[in-house]
Amino acid sequence: MATQTIRTTCSYCSVGCNFTATVEDGRVTGWMPDKEYPVNQGRSCPKGFNLLEAFRAEDRLTTPMARDRSTGELQPISWDEAFNRLVEGFRTVLDEHGPEAAAFISTGQMPMEEMAFLGALGKFGMGMIHGDGNTRQCMATAAVAYKQSFGFDAPPFTYTDLEDSDYLIFLGANPVIAHPVLWERLKKSRTPKKIVVIDPRATKTARAADQHIQLRPKTDLELLYAITNELITNGWVDTTFVESHTTGFEGLRRHVASFSPEQVERTCGIPAGTIRALTREIHQAKAVSWWWTMGVNQSHQGVRTAQAMINIALITGNIGRPGTGPNSLTGQANAMGSRIFSNTTSLYAGLDFLKEADRNRVAEEMGIDVARIPAQNSLPYHKILEKIDTGEMKALWFLATNPGHSWIDKNTFFERIHKLDFVVVQDLYVTTETARFADLLLPAAGSGEKYGTFINSERRIGIVDKVKDPPGEAKSDFDIFKGIAEAWGVGEMFADWNSAEDVFHFLTRISAGRPCDISGITGYDMIRERGGIQWPYPKRNPDSRQHRRLFADGRFFTDDGRARLLVDEIAPVPEATDEEYPVILLTGRGSKVQFHTQTRTGKVAMLRKSYPADAYVEVNQDDARELGLVDGEKVEVASRRGAVKVDCRVSDELAPGQVFMPMHYPETNLLTFPAFDPHSSEPAYKYSAVRMRAVEHERGTSNGNAAAVRETVAGTVQ
Ligand code: SF4
Repeated sequence: MATQTIRTTCSYCSVGCNFTATVEDGRVTGWMPDKEYPVNQGRSCPKGFNLLEAFRAEDRLTTPMARDRSTGELQPISWDEAFNRLVEGFRTVLDEHGPEAAAFISTGQMPMEEMAFLGALGKFGMGMIHGDGNTRQCMATAAVAYKQSFGFDAPPFTYTDLEDSDYLIFLGANPVIAHPVLWERLKKSRTPKKIVVIDPRATKTARAADQHIQLRPKTDLELLYAITNELITNGWVDTTFVESHTTGFEGLRRHVASFSPEQVERTCGIPAGTIRALTREIHQAKAVSWWWTMGVNQSHQGVRTAQAMINIALITGNIGRPGTGPNSLTGQANAMGSRIFSNTTSLYAGLDFLKEADRNRVAEEMGIDVARIPAQNSLPYHKILEKIDTGEMKALWFLATNPGHSWIDKNTFFERIHKLDFVVVQDLYVTTETARFADLLLPAAGSGEKYGTFINSERRIGIVDKVKDPPGEAKSDFDIFKGIAEAWGVGEMFADWNSAEDVFHFLTRISAGRPCDISGITGYDMIRERGGIQWPYPKRNPDSRQHRRLFADGRFFTDDGRARLLVDEIAPVPEATDEEYPVILLTGRGSKVQFHTQTRTGKVAMLRKSYPADAYVEVNQDDARELGLVDGEKVEVASRRGAVKVDCRVSDELAPGQVFMPMHYPETNLLTFPAFDPHSSEPAYKYSAVRMRAVEHERGTSNGNAAAVRETVAGTVQ
């Protein structure tokens, strides 16, 4: 019997844990968190521990399928026919309506090499201008904030900064359920520390912290400006760092001068004394680190809010040293690979579609005619969808993403997708909400069924190794792209790309000299041997330490090497509450056993037992009493976009006038208001106006103890 031990990276969240699979005669007989891997050090959360079960689900798509135009039914077809149908569908649209009439929408779940291949195939091979990814829904804000402030999308930290920090502030982040392995690492670290959570909800992280600052929703920017003002007024600024390494301090000082703690107390609902005490502690701590996720990113002013944290880190000198940094925790497993190497919003390695020299560089490296490279940027996701309304967008190709569940104000998405001439969905499952609209379905392999790499939150490139075959005729996305390229007649363009690792080598070459330079990585074996490698890792004089942070020398990636201190006026929330819709709807993760639209976690029996099967809304206890809402009974939640009936959960996590619905249930985005950050175009999922009423005599389907049940099963595996 042939036994192999194969290490691979979890494909749920961006923590980037590694697992060791024992494979006997082609069957996986063991699956354990890797004790040696520097990220998880033998830890796992329940999602990763049960990852492979999701790939064994009965609704796996095992053959290509096409919709029969007369019956509307999906019928199995051969791969050759599938490739030909895709070519015919897209070519018809592009020939008749031009290169802006079709687009692809990809993901942060696919390995980086496959996303890079898609970006080249879609834009250089098939001739599309527009392509975006679902990372627009989670990390675009952080990416733009870093790019504007540092000159490149460069999260500066390493996970050891969690452990080395003596003062950690989590803003709009709930790592106890969203990044559980990191939370475990933090709680086990020896450095004495204070943990502060700034969040409108008393989340599990807030309850586990030393201090919870429960501000009103979407007042975080004002709070951060007040802290900045206090730091400056008291002279608690690292002037040497500011003068040597930043620009814009005078503008920052002037801008925040009017944000006194007393004024901000009225808007944020935080006592001025608390703001002053927090500021003093930031000044007194040795190593302050800021950590944020979707509570900031998915906001109508997310970029400026992230930059307000970046500003504070910069003016207090809390960057480039152990335990410091303005640090964004990423959402999906390969969101950072998508941000930097997918050839969507930027050319590879952060190069610029608008710069002739950059287009020439990519053309030369790929050996293609530079005229094939668009000299314009792609539209962002929501603009691509808006073009359907005007009839300018005719065909879409969705890959490993499920906007039929996750898109903000989903009814608008449904109206639009019906207007398209041609819809392709490439995914693992036939049952996703988006697959329902497909004219053509392409069955893809999951991670663990193919090869590639992911980049996690701390810039670590981790290996994705194959531990099992995909089911039926499902193929790796890499092989699907190869087949499409041949059918399109551009196979020659990708003749050198015969494996994922060939694409990786291309990415190492194109990255040379860029901030994300990985030209010193010789191949997958080096990544396997080193336990992942953080970027940058240049060919000349690489720093070989396993844990590295950026900006220790105070030099940033801007032209003058200085970080920018950026501010803006406070913008009102896009949909304020009023008499008709008096309640603020907050959304987010429900538990650590659920992931996004549940296409995978919803297939795992062990996880499914651990969370409520049906959608629910958490309601403040006083509000519930006033409205006659009963825990466990049905409640109607309505916004201007729609109304849903969900189970009521009376909760002490919320302040009065606010309710919370987890993002994992399809009902939630029937209600959300479609606002977008003006810089990042990220949807602002976290604030919509709703109203509620009891649905009499209708009992909810899940019992009131489900939250407790969730927690007993959701323990971290060590
Ligand atoms: Fe996977 Fe859980 Fe680790 Fe995230 S924390 S990478 S979901 S095992």
